[in-house]
Amino acid sequence: MVDLRSDTVTRPSQAMRQAMAEAEVGDDVYGDDPSVNALEAEVARLLGHQAGLFVPSGSLSNQLGLRLLVKPGQELVCDDTAHVVRAELGAAAVFSGITTRTWHAERGLLDPADVANRITPNAGPYLVSTAAIAVENTHNFGGGTVQPVKAIREVQQLGREHGLALHLDGARLWNAHVASGTALDELAAGFDTVSVCLSKGLGAPVGSVLVSDAARIAKARIWRKRYGAGMRQAGILAAAGSFALQHNIKRLADDHARAAYLAGELSADPGTTETNIVVLRVPDAAAVAAQAREHGVLVSALGPAFLRLVTHLDVDDAAVERAAEVLRPLILG
Ligand SMILES: *Cc1c(COP(=O)(O)O)cnc(C)c1O
Repeated sequence: MVDLRSDTVTRPSQAMRQAMAEAEVGDDVYGDDPSVNALEAEVARLLGHQAGLFVPSGSLSNQLGLRLLVKPGQELVCDDTAHVVRAELGAAAVFSGITTRTWHAERGLLDPADVANRITPNAGPYLVSTAAIAVENTHNFGGGTVQPVKAIREVQQLGREHGLALHLDGARLWNAHVASGTALDELAAGFDTVSVCLSKGLGAPVGSVLVSDAARIAKARIWRKRYGAGMRQAGILAAAGSFALQHNIKRLADDHARAAYLAGELSADPGTTETNIVVLRVPDAAAVAAQAREHGVLVSALGPAFLRLVTHLDVDDAAVERAAEVLRPLILG
């Protein structure tokens, strides 16, 4: 099987498993796990923030960040296919009493005018006041879109002018860094909270890290425990994350090249494949996915006419060539 459903399907390599097996561990709820502490410090350093918190998933990392920035009854604004509103099962509302309003963004691309049109800061006693803006980089449902730094800075400026906080869902910030050549700390600058995933393209089996200032991370640590996600000898997992940071960032360029190859072979809209995600518009996505499966290729039908292919650590050149062979007749006829 060539599995292009997601970059979450990777399995830890032998070398990563070795690093996990040899990890020094302690009780992380007591702050005693050296491998977790090292990972949190390293991610914070890479992203240019004061402190980090290791959590089991990107959804939890996002939700911890959001609840620190938005009070119950206030709103978060973001685009309408952002993971935080589309794929976290209403968590911001359920856990934190946060309402959301959205704008539509082609390919998930950030446009400061959309944000300016949507925010209602200090809306008074009748309307919902905006408290925070969320940005996703790269944009998952948008097709791995890299957000331009200029647009990010304008949105941050707008946020500052209106006293709004900013959250970055950087599940695939590593991909944005490799594709654009922009430094990680530059991509993470100007955000109050940043979430990054270790379990996507980086190939760790589990884990995300939230970074922010030390005071917010101390609060997030309390909420992580309250949510039941305080882990004990989690260094076994953190070691996989540290291994991934050391070995699997630069190689994301290979995933991007393979995605570009697939985009070309399958006539994706030119210029829409910037990183490791290929979006294809087809008349019947479910039918294509079912037929491809019969030929040993797994892809995601994320909408009636929306196919998503994701390259990752466990698909090599031969695998994408095979996928292209299977998919070409199904898509191009
Ligand atoms: C995968 C992903 C997340 C987090 O997902 P989990 O499955 O909860 O780890 C968050 N944001 C984006 C954009 C993602 O692609």
